[in-house]
Amino acid sequence: MAERQEITVVGGGVAGLCAAVALRERGYPVTVVERGLGPGRQSCSWYAGGMLAPWCEGETAEEPVVRLGQEAIGWWDERVPGVERRGSLVLAAARDGPELDRFARRTGTQPGVHHLLNDGGIAALEPALAGRFARALYFPQEAHLDPRAALAALSRRFCGLGGIIRYRTEAQHLRRGLVVDARGFAARDALADLRGVRGEMLMIRARDVRITRPLRLLHPRHPLYLVPRGEGLYMLGATQIESEDRGGVTARGVVDLLNAAYVLHPAFAEAEIVETGADLRPAFPDNLPRLRRRGRRLYVNGLFRHGFLLAPACARMLAEVVADPSFIPEIMDEDHRERSPA
Ligand SMILES: Cc1cc2nc3c(=O)[nH]c(=O)nc-3n(C[C@H](O)[C@H](O)[C@H](O)COP(=O)(O)OP(=O)(O)OC[C@H]3O[C@@H](n4cnc5c(N)ncnc54)[C@H](O)[C@@H]3O)c2cc1C
Repeated sequence: MAERQEITVVGGGVAGLCAAVALRERGYPVTVVERGLGPGRQSCSWYAGGMLAPWCEGETAEEPVVRLGQEAIGWWDERVPGVERRGSLVLAAARDGPELDRFARRTGTQPGVHHLLNDGGIAALEPALAGRFARALYFPQEAHLDPRAALAALSRRFCGLGGIIRYRTEAQHLRRGLVVDARGFAARDALADLRGVRGEMLMIRARDVRITRPLRLLHPRHPLYLVPRGEGLYMLGATQIESEDRGGVTARGVVDLLNAAYVLHPAFAEAEIVETGADLRPAFPDNLPRLRRRGRRLYVNGLFRHGFLLAPACARMLAEVVADPSFIPEIMDEDHRERSPA
């Protein structure tokens, strides 16, 4: 292993905290510098649904997302409480039945990844949905977590391992050691090909509806999902708009999200809207994550809509590069593969 150099991780969102933990677990002295008030706050990670759903994501994502994402469930489960291994349920309104068949074709290359359920099978898993949908796809191996609780627990674990976190600190000129740049969309000042993809979400409280696993509602234009957070609280997400507008949730966003909730169960019409949120997912042109090296700075970025899903694999590969700078992991940016660290 290379000498235990001092490492500063800039950014305490999911990419930065996972990297910090992975490095600290390997014995490096690590300090996280975060300009926000606490773990994940004021970051894109704050608004995530927390679905650990690599196979479902395979509907639209490239093969590396499905493969690398499979590391996430075990990684989180070993480090934080609250990883719910209850699978995901994919539903479509009767008129959108072909969407379900298309989803099954695009995600079902390995046996056992999903099962087709009839109405009885749906009711057995989620009694609240009895009689509401004729068919569903069940992905039994998938999981979910509460991102905010998970980041808080991960930061505690990091500090318990001897890591240091400095909040309310804007990293400017770091003169010593290796710098891991995990600033999310803020790193666009250095990564010209990084773009923001706007996502909007709602938190609603509906004590009369009990759903226990993430539900995805397929729709030709607005596929949306609902993630249970316990005690009647649900995260409803997420719009995906090619815009770098950081403004609050739009009326259209609220309408689309609430319509989806209403299709899932009419009792959501009575839900209390607890929170609205919007932020920019950091993405490269192919929507795949990257490690990029410039001198003594290693960038980890571009986690797009897969922050909690891909951060563990990105952190592992980053730690491997730190241990052996000649190692070139698959997500190391092609353009920068020939450069060596300072
Ligand atoms: C509505 C929505 C729903 C989503 N749902 C999911 C989901 O279900 N599952 C999933 O896996 N992903 C989901 N995502 C995507 C996920 O949130 C992102 O991929 C992830 O948050 C990106 O993490 P990051 O650490 O790269 O960036 P960020 O979370 O933005 O973290 C960057 C951090 O760097 C800090 N920072 C920036 N500049 C500086 C500086 N100069 N000095 C110090 N600190 C700095 C910021 O304050 C911030 O805390 C969702 C995203 C959105 C918007």
